Amino acid sequence: MRLVYVDNNATTQVDGSVLEEMLPYFKEFYGNPSSLHTFGRQVAGKIDIARERVADLLGANSSEIVFTSCGTESNNNAIHSSLEANPQKRHVVTTKVEHPAVLNLCRYFGKNGYEVTELSVGKDGMLDLDELREAIRENTAIVSIMHANNETGIILPIEEIGRIVKEKGVLFHCDAVQAIGKIPINLRNSHIDLLSLSGHKLHAPKGIGVLYIRKGVRVNPLIIGGHQESNRRSGTENVPSIIGLGKACELAKASIGEYSNRVKDLRDKLEKGVKESIAKVKIIGEKSCRLPNTSNIAFEYVEGEAILLLLDMAGIAASSGSACTTGSTEPSHVLQAMGTPVSQSRGAIRFSLSRYSTDDEINYILERLPALIKKLQDLSPIFDDSLGSGG
Ligand code: PLP
Repeated sequence: MRLVYVDNNATTQVDGSVLEEMLPYFKEFYGNPSSLHTFGRQVAGKIDIARERVADLLGANSSEIVFTSCGTESNNNAIHSSLEANPQKRHVVTTKVEHPAVLNLCRYFGKNGYEVTELSVGKDGMLDLDELREAIRENTAIVSIMHANNETGIILPIEEIGRIVKEKGVLFHCDAVQAIGKIPINLRNSHIDLLSLSGHKLHAPKGIGVLYIRKGVRVNPLIIGGHQESNRRSGTENVPSIIGLGKACELAKASIGEYSNRVKDLRDKLEKGVKESIAKVKIIGEKSCRLPNTSNIAFEYVEGEAILLLLDMAGIAASSGSACTTGSTEPSHVLQAMGTPVSQSRGAIRFSLSRYSTDDEINYILERLPALIKKLQDLSPIFDDSLGSGG
């Protein structure tokens, strides 16, 4: 059976040249980078190179890069560390559309002595910047706002957000897990103090992430132990994955242009084809600034789970939202926050492309999807196709 993978916001395939750079560091160069002997030095030097490659993609200094185990850890580290370093400040600002790795953590703090403000978004997925300005108070320890949403691809204006947060003299953490490698970023000219990224979203392996900590920002480490990562994150380094992430960042920097051209064209072709061939569809955040690879399409009055099942039977791997909420029958918290009607949000499917996606794959999806949706719409007791295509 033909297989088409359009779930790259969940995870990506490890790039061949990333794997190639990693392999010698499992068996041949297996030293502990903290060791002073030859075996240790052989790998410590390579970690330095990886750190520089990550810094280069982000427009940061290599001393500002801390390797972690994943995006979730980076988010936890950033928020925990900032709260611990500023114990007198008991207020956190975030948004209703964050990934659970931020939202659930903030809610945890909300139950444990902190006040949490969750900013709302409009129908277009955008924040009201005046609401943000008003939400920040004297005792706000940190503002944590994502760069691009994992479910919809909607990009938040982090430069403007950062300016507002800085005017108030508060720390700004940005979960940029979905943005890095797909759109350019330059931390040197930004107001971001802390930023999270995850290797497996940009063709590096799972189990490696980065927390960027701007020089001068005081944080208390979340994981305490040895002196790795300049005392900012203890634990023996995941050497092969760090090396792989370094290579992946180098490749990502070179292929950002491909995202804004070829990948975006494929995404637009998919959306155009869907709108032309299927009744009652809505592209979520269509008019908003979005990641070039992401399309969240709501098929009205049909169940997302049923669509995913039929897509899977046709060999097409997509998703009904965040991978972490798969299995839940609740409509997505992101779409709920955007005020998307339940008739749409229940049938919302995320297609997320990568630089490996091909025109042929999009043609295949467009070949199979209309009949599959029609079948489900015909079974739906409330679907009325005389209503025509929804905007
Ligand atoms: N933040 C966002 C926006 C994400 O999309 C994800 C993963 O989907 C994460 C954080 C968590 O990253 P990880 O899977 O590396 O823990």
